Amino acid sequence: MSIFEATWPEANRPEVLRVAILGATGSIGTQALDVCRKHSNRLQVVALSAHSSVEKLCALAHEFKVKHLALSNEDYRSAAAIAQLDAGVQLGFGNQAVAELAALEEVDLVLVSVVGAAGILPSYTALINNKILALANKEALVCAGDLLMPLVKPGKLIPVDSEHSAIFQCMMGTHPQYVSRIWLTCSGGPFYGKTVDELYEVTSAQALKHPNWHMGPKITIDSATLMNKGLEVLEAHHLFNVTIDDIQVLIQRQSRIHSMIETTDGSVMAQLGPSDMRGPIQLAFSYPERWEAPTDPVNFFELGSLDFAPADDKTFKCLALAREAGRIGKTMPCALNAANEVANLAFRQGSLSFLQIAHVVEKVMELTTVQELQSLTQLVEVDKRARALTKQCIDEVI
Ligand code: NDP
Ligand code: MG
Repeated sequence: MSIFEATWPEANRPEVLRVAILGATGSIGTQALDVCRKHSNRLQVVALSAHSSVEKLCALAHEFKVKHLALSNEDYRSAAAIAQLDAGVQLGFGNQAVAELAALEEVDLVLVSVVGAAGILPSYTALINNKILALANKEALVCAGDLLMPLVKPGKLIPVDSEHSAIFQCMMGTHPQYVSRIWLTCSGGPFYGKTVDELYEVTSAQALKHPNWHMGPKITIDSATLMNKGLEVLEAHHLFNVTIDDIQVLIQRQSRIHSMIETTDGSVMAQLGPSDMRGPIQLAFSYPERWEAPTDPVNFFELGSLDFAPADDKTFKCLALAREAGRIGKTMPCALNAANEVANLAFRQGSLSFLQIAHVVEKVMELTTVQELQSLTQLVEVDKRARALTKQCIDEVI
């Protein structure tokens, strides 16, 4: 018997976990469904949502025999694919319908893998309905962490973002009071090592080619600007109650170390594994159990070396801006996030250059009046105002 067995808490979880996957048609959603296929004896998919990929959603509903569906984009109410749905399937429309899936009686765990601030409402709904929240969507904590974290009960929020899953795993067995620092690793993205001059001309097609991860378009661009890492600093700050300045961003080009914690006595714990999101997704479903790996393990003989470097937040200014928004707190991170969502899309659509993303976000932060954070309704207004401001700023710079 291991010396730990006697003290290990019992896994109090149902034999078959009933899951809702919100954002089922995206990169995380698709990989989550892969995990559900692999472990169909332990996971039952009971609710699914998408934004506008109606055909894909209907096909998934048929495959997994899901009765509860939602499409956040209301324009698809009369899409032809809907007529093909099996009898008894309920399909709701709009953001509220997506959030309602998170409250369903027959749901045990809600994976929030929608993109952007749209993740706030379903995350909130999952928490107040006492579901396990498997959270991939980082924007929810960035914008509303101060409102969401007080609602979290023990074991009810499991991070899916790979770095935060890594920190979560490193912290098992260490009391949070002894964690002095978090080393948040970062691949550096496709433009690692480039100078400002070299970044003037980069295109969205180049930015969409991430060296180590295949992800949705918004996060891929955020990874190129390092806004993704900035958002992750704020996410870690809320999840683990560590100050913004005790979270160090560390370039780890191979994306093998997914993050590390440092304890007050100078010890460092790292979590390593394949660069495949099915790992952290599966852990969020299986926790505190560990199931058969969804991927090939790392071969350390082939890996060779691990490299480390500081992140360049002078060139990749979005990282510094996100940290600054985190230090200011209150409603500022929500404004930063909204500005980034709009600027990120404008870059993908070719109406803003790569370097202008940071410029526009900075401008919106300067023009934002910070308020005490009080409610989700207030955040809807802050988000709306920041988006409008960002569009104005974009019109001015182009
Ligand atoms: P994708 O763009 O691939 O997928 C997004 C999903 O959300 C799709 O199902 C999409 O539906 C749906 N969606 C899009 N817009 C809305 C909206 N306004 N309201 C509700 N649902 C919407 O994104 P990813 O899977 O890459 O990322 C999802 C979240 O997970 C993000 O917050 C990201 O930061 C986080 N994350 C992603 C990682 C990754 O490896 N991809 C890693 C770590 C975190 P439709 O298909 O119909 O458009
Ligand atoms: Mg991440």
